[in-house]
Amino acid sequence: TIMITGATGQLGKLIITELLQKIPAGQLIAGVRNPDKAAGLQQSGVEIRIADYNLEASLDSAFRNASRLLLISSPHQDDAVRLVQHKRVIDAARRAGVEHIFYTGFAFSHQGSPDNVHTLTEQAIADSGLRYTFLRNALYLDFINVLGLQEAIISGELLTSPGEWRFNSVTRRDLAQATAAVLLSDQHDHPSYEFTAPQAWTFHDLAEALSEWAGKSVVHREDPGIQHWIYNYLASINTSATTSDLERWMGRPVTPLKKSIADFVIAGQ
Ligand code: NDP
Repeated sequence: TIMITGATGQLGKLIITELLQKIPAGQLIAGVRNPDKAAGLQQSGVEIRIADYNLEASLDSAFRNASRLLLISSPHQDDAVRLVQHKRVIDAARRAGVEHIFYTGFAFSHQGSPDNVHTLTEQAIADSGLRYTFLRNALYLDFINVLGLQEAIISGELLTSPGEWRFNSVTRRDLAQATAAVLLSDQHDHPSYEFTAPQAWTFHDLAEALSEWAGKSVVHREDPGIQHWIYNYLASINTSATTSDLERWMGRPVTPLKKSIADFVIAGQ
C-alpha cells in the first residue's frame, strides 16, 4: 500500500490522480491534516487517514500497513518547524514498519548550505535505516505569477530585475507524473533524483512564450527599478542546473513553457 502525506495539497492531489490511473484506489491511502478538505479524495475511493505532522499519535495510526510512504515536505514557513515535523514523520514511519520512504525535497538542495531543511531531512531519513528515495523537485512554475505576466502582455514588455537568470522550473503536473512512476517502480537505480527540466529557460524565452500565447509582441527588458522579494529568493537557490531525471521518469518530454504558461495568464488579454 502506498501512503501519501499532504494529500489535500496541490501536488498531493495530482500525484494521487496519476496513481489512480495505474493502480486500484484500494492500494492507496491519503494522509490529510484536515478531513473536511478530503471530500474529493474520498469520492475516488481512496482511504483517508488523519496524518498531521504536528500530532505524533495521528502519524502512528496513519502509517499502519503502509509499505511505501511519500512524505510531501511541509509548507510551514519556518524551516526549523518543518524539520521537526519531518523528523516526527520519519520516526513514526520507522515505528510503523514502513518499508520505503520517499521524500519531496528541492532540486540541488544538497549543493547549497548543508543546514538547509531538505538536506537535514534527507540526512534524518538516511539515518533512520529505512529504504529511501529522494525526489528533489525543481522550482514550481508558479513563481512566474509574481512577474506581472498580464501587465507584460498588455504593455508588450516583460520587465525583470537585471541578472543572468536561468530557470529549470517545471509544472506540478509533470512532477506528479514522474513521482507516481517512481512510487510504483522497484527499479530505483539511484537514491535521489533531481526533477528538473532538461533545459533551463530564460526571461527572454518567457517573453517569447508570452508573445506566442497572446498573439502579440512581448519583449523582455531588464529594469533596475524592478524590485521584488522573489529575486532575493531566486538568487539564493540553484535554479539553473538541469538533469534528465524528470523526463526519464515521466517517459515523455516536459511540458513546454509556452503550453504551461496557459495556467498563469488570463485568456483574452
Ligand atoms: P500545498 O500548500 O498546496 O499543500 C501542502 C499540503 O501540506 C496540504 O495538504 C496541507 O494540508 C498539508 N499540511 C500542512 N500542514 C500540515 C501538517 N501539520 N500536517 C500534515 N499536513 C500538513 O503545497 P504543494 O502541494 O503545492 O507543494 C507541496 C510542498 O512542496 C509544500 O508543502 C512545500 O514544502 C514544497 N514547495 C515547493 C515549492 C517548489 O517550488 N518546489 C514551492 C512551494 C512549496 P491542508 O490542505 O490541510 O492545508
